Amino acid sequence: MFIAHLPAGYLLAHRLAPRLAMTRAQSRRLMAVCLLASVLPDIDLLYFHAIDGRRTLHHDYWTHIPVFWLIAAAAAVALFRIARMPVPWPAIAVLLCGIFLHLVLDTVTGGIAWLYPFGAGKFALIDVPARFDRWVWNFVLHWSFLLEITILAWAGREIGLPRFLQRLWRPVAAAMLRRRASRQERAE
Ligand SMILES: [Zn+2]
Repeated sequence: MFIAHLPAGYLLAHRLAPRLAMTRAQSRRLMAVCLLASVLPDIDLLYFHAIDGRRTLHHDYWTHIPVFWLIAAAAAVALFRIARMPVPWPAIAVLLCGIFLHLVLDTVTGGIAWLYPFGAGKFALIDVPARFDRWVWNFVLHWSFLLEITILAWAGREIGLPRFLQRLWRPVAAAMLRRRASRQERAE
């Protein structure tokens, strides 16, 4: 998945954070954690491009292996317990939900090793055929990309994007009408 991770993260954060938070400030912090988590696995793209020389499929890195995040979360909880500090359960829950949402969305066309370490096979719901030289077009011009556009539109609607664009467009339209009217006056 390319463009829908952050919008999907917003849709999840918007529903999850207020339910787990005690205060508005905590809800905002949890929303930020969820948004960050929804794109966090793709941090491996930095390594993929800058260090690995694009040799490994980025879904093969540990950042796209579900069990890694479960172990990391368990280790974080253990560290909090050892340090005798309160475990921030809402933050850990939101972080894991955001990350797993990312991995579920990557399963649509990308392939994720859900059963690792019991099996290294990657699961993908839809097989996208390679029809173009540039791999990105195989995905962008495939019908499954409509799912990404739907998620993007859904999140855009929830943040009030149509109203914002309408407000932005109104003065522009008014200025255009004024200009056309004055041009017509001058012509007469
Ligand atoms: Zn990813």
